[in-house]
Amino acid sequence: MSAVVKATDVHKRFHSLEVLKGVTLEVAEAEVVVVLGPSGSGKSTFLRCLNHLEKIDSGRIEVNGHLIGYRERGDGSLREERGRVVARQRAEIGMVFQRFNLFPHMTVLENIVEAPVQVKGMARRAARDVAMDLLEQVGLPDKAAVYPARLSGGQQQRVAIARALAMEPKLMLFDEPTSALDPELVGEVLDTMRALATDKHMTMVVVTHEVGFAREVADRAVLMDDGVVVEDAPPKKFFSKPEHPRTQQFLSKIL
Ligand code: ADP
Ligand code: MG
Repeated sequence: MSAVVKATDVHKRFHSLEVLKGVTLEVAEAEVVVVLGPSGSGKSTFLRCLNHLEKIDSGRIEVNGHLIGYRERGDGSLREERGRVVARQRAEIGMVFQRFNLFPHMTVLENIVEAPVQVKGMARRAARDVAMDLLEQVGLPDKAAVYPARLSGGQQQRVAIARALAMEPKLMLFDEPTSALDPELVGEVLDTMRALATDKHMTMVVVTHEVGFAREVADRAVLMDDGVVVEDAPPKKFFSKPEHPRTQQFLSKIL
């Protein structure tokens, strides 16, 4: 199977703080990779590098076979890609954040229709049909005309997923999508993500501490610690027989 994500020796620093110290990770098509790790270990930064919300200092990141954010010079060195090209690359990568970042002044339907119309030039009518299908998929067909403030956090997060899917991404990135939710709302969001994985075979990188989701849905679980990938294993092995002491230590805190 071909790699959708191919990150090789990615380094990233913020001033004197080296946050990513050589991250290498591949994600195959239709694979679900869950990333766990202590707070501050670089998980969000790495996800943000995957769609070039952050520049990287060295290494390379390919998504769907394209270098993300950079263009290779004849001598093999990289220079930053133009904004228009980056926007096009980013359109193929959906991202869902911890905080629902829906546009508050737009209805649910308008939220989902916006990017396909503005970025892809899709006809508004067609975009609306797509949006209604997606609302069906995330279980909210009756919320099309509602404003985000009227929805629960779990419903908002499902709309955020539908909005990302409207761009027909080849890769979905999730950064702790349930950690800002009240506990009783976590399940509906995880169920939506699970359906995306099992029914739609979406390629997904999910930063989460939801161990149940990782065990049931992930093909691989990865521990990131202090800016590197420490462990990368099928969930069964990851959670029961991790190789690295740092993984054991981390798991002893969360399990
Ligand atoms: P995680 O998601 O694993 O909790 P982050 O990737 O958010 O970790 O952060 C890793 C480290 O990088 C933290 O020490 C954080 O304070 C720092 N950091 C993240 N973003 C910035 C930024 N824009 N400027 C400076 N430091 C940052
Ligand atoms: Mg984070």
